[in-house]
Amino acid sequence: MVLRNEGVDLDDGVEDEGVDLDDGVEDESGVEDEGQTFGSKEEMRDIFREYAIREVVTLGRIKNDLVRQTYVCKSDGCPWRTHGSQTIDKKSFIIKTLVDKHDCHRVHNNNEAKVKWITSKVESLVKSNPIVSAKLLGDLLLERYLRQYAYTLNQTNPGTAIRIKIQRQLTTFHRLFLSFQAQKQGFLEGCRPFIGLIRCHLKGPCGGMLLSAVALDANNCIFPLTVCICKKKTKFSWIWFINNLKMFLQFPQDKHLCFMSDKQKGFITALETHFPLASTRFYARRIYANFRSSYPGNNYKKMF
Ligand SMILES: [Zn+2]
Repeated sequence: MVLRNEGVDLDDGVEDEGVDLDDGVEDESGVEDEGQTFGSKEEMRDIFREYAIREVVTLGRIKNDLVRQTYVCKSDGCPWRTHGSQTIDKKSFIIKTLVDKHDCHRVHNNNEAKVKWITSKVESLVKSNPIVSAKLLGDLLLERYLRQYAYTLNQTNPGTAIRIKIQRQLTTFHRLFLSFQAQKQGFLEGCRPFIGLIRCHLKGPCGGMLLSAVALDANNCIFPLTVCICKKKTKFSWIWFINNLKMFLQFPQDKHLCFMSDKQKGFITALETHFPLASTRFYARRIYANFRSSYPGNNYKKMF
């Protein structure tokens, strides 16, 4: 499922430019199958470097000479492997074997993205705009590879809702909404009509906030429903998140739905706009935190 453009957001006047996965974004890693040929050894090496960066894996080059190129995935036990050799013209290379299957996890520090590679990606932009900041260049690269991530998710998980919002003026990442078809189906067919909204700070190198929606299944266990990554937790982030949630869930209007939150800024506004018939509850822990500031002490705690 592709979530369509919803028009203009209210927070910054930036027109929504969510990625439409039908817009021609394709797998650009360049690695195809056994029998694929490359004009030279260097071309083959560059294409597999691009592949490693897109797949977020680290490749080891166990044979790297004038006539052979053999790469393996460096993660322990991962079966991915390829071998290429020089063809009869003594210049081109051909993939002889390709075991295109990874059992490994993503790596967080990808050594393949070296200075030379980064330079090749941003050179033309820097030449046309010499005062462009390093942060903006980093955001541009991130946004570009997010699109590839969105495309891959949709290919491997049909029905996935992934929507990326880009700031038009800076063409940098703003927000991301993600939910899988299995999560939607599981919620509609097997969970109570209850959604809890929670948030936390992301401590990784990119920072930002994680907003998430969870449900309760028949055993009272938490059932993850969807996540949203945004730069800041604002009223407009919640409105955007709730709007995408509504579009994805297609929850029947004649059924009752209940939301619970910790009274985040913008939460009520978002619900009034997109789920006007839903009821709302607030986490007791949050209510008690406010209560305690006026009525401290164990006696009041017990009364609460
Ligand atoms: Zn691997």
